Amino acid sequence: MCGIIGIYSNSPVNKKLFYGLSSLQHRGQEACGITVSKGDSLKREKGMGMVNEVFKESNLSELDGNIGIGHVRYSTSGGSYDYNTQPLMGFSKGEEISLSHNGNLINHQILRTRLEEEGMMFQTTIDTEVILFLIARYYQKGDIVEAIKKTMDVIEGAYSIVLLLQDKLVAFRDPHGIRPLVLGESKDGDVIISSENAPVEIIGTKVKRDILPGEIVVVDSSGVNSYFYEKTKRPKHCIFEYVYFSRDDATLDKVNSYNFRRRCGETLSKEAPCDVDLVVPVPDSGIPSAIGYSQETKIPFAEGLVKNRYVGRSFIKPTQEEREMAVKLKLNPLRHVVEGKKIVLIDDSIVRGTTSRNLIRRMREAGAKEVHLRITSPPVVNQCYYGIDTPSRMNLIAANHSVEEMRELIGADSLAFISIEGMQKATLIDGDKFCKACFDGKYPVDPIII
Ligand code: SF4
Repeated sequence: MCGIIGIYSNSPVNKKLFYGLSSLQHRGQEACGITVSKGDSLKREKGMGMVNEVFKESNLSELDGNIGIGHVRYSTSGGSYDYNTQPLMGFSKGEEISLSHNGNLINHQILRTRLEEEGMMFQTTIDTEVILFLIARYYQKGDIVEAIKKTMDVIEGAYSIVLLLQDKLVAFRDPHGIRPLVLGESKDGDVIISSENAPVEIIGTKVKRDILPGEIVVVDSSGVNSYFYEKTKRPKHCIFEYVYFSRDDATLDKVNSYNFRRRCGETLSKEAPCDVDLVVPVPDSGIPSAIGYSQETKIPFAEGLVKNRYVGRSFIKPTQEEREMAVKLKLNPLRHVVEGKKIVLIDDSIVRGTTSRNLIRRMREAGAKEVHLRITSPPVVNQCYYGIDTPSRMNLIAANHSVEEMRELIGADSLAFISIEGMQKATLIDGDKFCKACFDGKYPVDPIII
């Protein structure tokens, strides 16, 4: 998972990109970068670490252009190395191109091998470089929209992309629109394109709409122009964005994450009621769901876990050891709230099961009499190939155990998950516009497993 942003403005974009990337920090904390156009050339700064670690007044002031793109990274393809940080940069027809990508190509290994056989030498190990190379190759003819369409003929999988030329900001989204991409415009002419609406609103621009599946948006001195890839497919937006990944204030493809999470809590209270004293959320994404569960059942809501907001999200740490330490650092039970009480913990998902086991053990140590667990997504039984770092099936607890076995393994008094239908209904959108493959195995683009 990653976060991307692009801004076209009449004034310097360096600080706006910095603030925008900071508001996307939850989408990736390993590395970040910014490229701006100085008119006749591009200038890039990037590095490993959080946005406020990589960017200081000194290097930010060097990025003095009016068009720019940025990226925050969590590695799902390639390793967590400096050379894999984005935006990437390359040359075509003597012109520089820079590119930031959110998503994952399923056929990048095949394409990479083919390109290597043609003599291409890669500088990174990420799929994004394949996209950059193909666009640069097809851009030789001078038409960026045609170059992108030709690239889309070849690449398969999930991609939301912002691309920078000397005089243009370009954005495009894969034919299913798997990963999100939002477009905003201000009265004074700033255009901002971002993975979520938060950067748009924080910078003072209004969200105009989502960029559509298969849409290519070009922003330059002539304004905002939209083109479409002819082979656009049915929308299949990632439902996991609303379950876990996006901010509560995100509204992506017409679904607000906070309301979705609250409705999932309400639904779960009907599908899996529980005779307890308190409803306790696992912060942050569990909070709206616990509010929904509590309001529906009239069981009091209580904050029974203190969150340390100065450590990162456990799921987006690359190794298991780091994830376990992050959970301990991040969440601590409130003994005086839970002691002697029967509680239901509301969490967004169970992936490996280690976080849940750890939390339940520590709730009992803090004196909770009973600890029930309710999960606002169905069991994760399949791997994601489109850019969310769910592990292989072998490491997914739900892929290898029944609900009762899971309950025993994590040590809960009871365990229940929302149904796939209940989760779908919580979007308030009719029809099947969402990818739910990690829950139901119906992949919108067949994964290529080498
Ligand atoms: Fe999202 Fe799951 Fe589909 Fe991946 S498989 S895109 S996580 S819904």
